Amino acid sequence: MSEFHFGVGKGFLPRSAGRIAAKYGVGLVNFYEPGCSCGGNCSQYCPANKRHWFEADARGFPQDDQLATRVMNELREAGFDV
Ligand SMILES: [Zn+2]
Repeated sequence: MSEFHFGVGKGFLPRSAGRIAAKYGVGLVNFYEPGCSCGGNCSQYCPANKRHWFEADARGFPQDDQLATRVMNELREAGFDV
């Protein structure tokens, strides 16, 4: 089954955000984009390159959009800046 990604943003999100997503069967992925953006010549793990996204099994339209909206809404209600 293919996956779809949504909610891509800067920085990392904590496990508490991942727990909210997990209620919907959605995974939180925190990752570093390659390279350096902070000017410090980082060889890897540049703090300015932290990103996050959510991933879930793709079920097609409109289910995927509805799922993403529900998860993002609950995260915002919980106080996350997503
Ligand atoms: Zn850097």
